[in-house]
Amino acid sequence: MEEYEIIIGLEVHVELLTDSKMFCGCSTKFGAPPNSHICPVCAGFPGVLPVINRKAVELALKTATAFNCKISPFSRFARKHYFYPDLPKNYQISQYEEPLAIEGVLLVDNRNIRIRRIHLEEDAGKLIHPEDSRSFSLVDLNRSGVPLIEIVTEPDVRSASEAEKFLAILKRILEYLEVSDCNMEEGSLRCDANISVRRYGDTNFGVKTEIKNMNSFRAVRKALEYEARRQIACLKEGRTLRQETRLWNENLQITEEMRRKEEAQDYRYFPEPDLPPLIFDNKIIEEINLKVGELPFQRKGRFIKEYNLSDYDAEVLTSKKDIADYFESCVEKGGKPKIVANWIMGDLTALLKAKKKDIGHSPVSPEYLVQIISMIEDGKITGVVAKMVLQECFNTGISPEKIVSERDLLQIEDGETINNIVEETITENADAVQDYKNGKEQALSFLIGQIMRKTKGKANPAVVRNKLQEYLNKKR
Ligand code: ADP
Ligand code: ZN
Ligand code: MG
Repeated sequence: MEEYEIIIGLEVHVELLTDSKMFCGCSTKFGAPPNSHICPVCAGFPGVLPVINRKAVELALKTATAFNCKISPFSRFARKHYFYPDLPKNYQISQYEEPLAIEGVLLVDNRNIRIRRIHLEEDAGKLIHPEDSRSFSLVDLNRSGVPLIEIVTEPDVRSASEAEKFLAILKRILEYLEVSDCNMEEGSLRCDANISVRRYGDTNFGVKTEIKNMNSFRAVRKALEYEARRQIACLKEGRTLRQETRLWNENLQITEEMRRKEEAQDYRYFPEPDLPPLIFDNKIIEEINLKVGELPFQRKGRFIKEYNLSDYDAEVLTSKKDIADYFESCVEKGGKPKIVANWIMGDLTALLKAKKKDIGHSPVSPEYLVQIISMIEDGKITGVVAKMVLQECFNTGISPEKIVSERDLLQIEDGETINNIVEETITENADAVQDYKNGKEQALSFLIGQIMRKTKGKANPAVVRNKLQEYLNKKR
């Protein structure tokens, strides 16, 4: 096997995270009842006019910037004609000769994988083949017109595992920029892989095949590994390869012939007459540059170095740009990095998840989170109270300082007051006290719990523990 070099180029389709479709106002939400998100535009009625989705263009520009592409000052949509039941217009609006961006690069383990082009297009609908019917299929046009970008690499990838890594890095960047959720199971990221092999030293590429139908990164690697073996075996037997499209069969873990590519299909491309060209001046490109800023890998590295965070924390905090921005904003306002990280990754994320909000729209602003953290540090509130305050602030948007003062939540540290509560608790819980004396350590936690309940979490837990132990030992 070693005498053959593997050559791979990838074509990745990514659904963009927009609320509405590429050329109409229909929702892009996944999983709705069939044909509930359609209108005359995306259902391909005659006489309608498409309108370009600004957000989709912005997300495509961000991607192009992140991959170091040259953004074309002038790009244009084109009609790509083919006939298929999931394509109601019988043409797809895509970009062809004038793509949005060209000549980018993505670094994978210190190797540059060149990006040939990134262009915008619309998705097609979906065909459903009911199991009980051989005589008809169903068409669901909910996906028809969903914004896509296609990212095409040069044939620079040199192994199946490098292809897998490339995709993982691509996904990380697209998720970070919230360009796409990259959910392969829901089809928001789809990858076709082109592969050929050649003897080391050959300067020409061999005949390639294109593999489709992989629904995980692992499947992409497996399919490429299989296909490389198949091609090499074929050449070693002295046979020639055919340029063809093959399908990955996940059950059998093999690729199977789908169609031969005798000659290139003629899509009869021509410029879309109903849409204006996209024109970007330096100012727009500069703005996008600023919006993208540092990429997640660099930012993660900086977080580890600058804030002394663990690999794991830095990874989570740089999973999305919004989260990383929020974190840095808290640190700027005086929060200790590790403590801020814990609050964001723990309680705040839980609250955001429950309310399906993203951190950019968190009712608890960085300023408010830092207020809570400072109040704990200054001994004004206990950790238990802090959690309550966070929740209250999240639900109401009222400042934590105000919540604490208005609701009388200041920490009780005063020895006298705590003494009284401890005494009271001991008298009320004679059984637990007896248990403790009999050596049951959990009884102590139980008693502390009782005291915290009495004080609504406001008693300083360290003082409580000390006092309680003092009492119990005295009475032993
Ligand atoms: P096609 O005309 O078949 O669509 P393209 O030249 O447009 O082929 O390339 C499509 C994809 O295939 C690109 O990602 C490219 O890098 C890759 N590719 C092209 N030639 C080869 C090859 N010989 N081996 C592997 N990948 C290739
Ligand atoms: Zn529509
Ligand atoms: Mg091509």
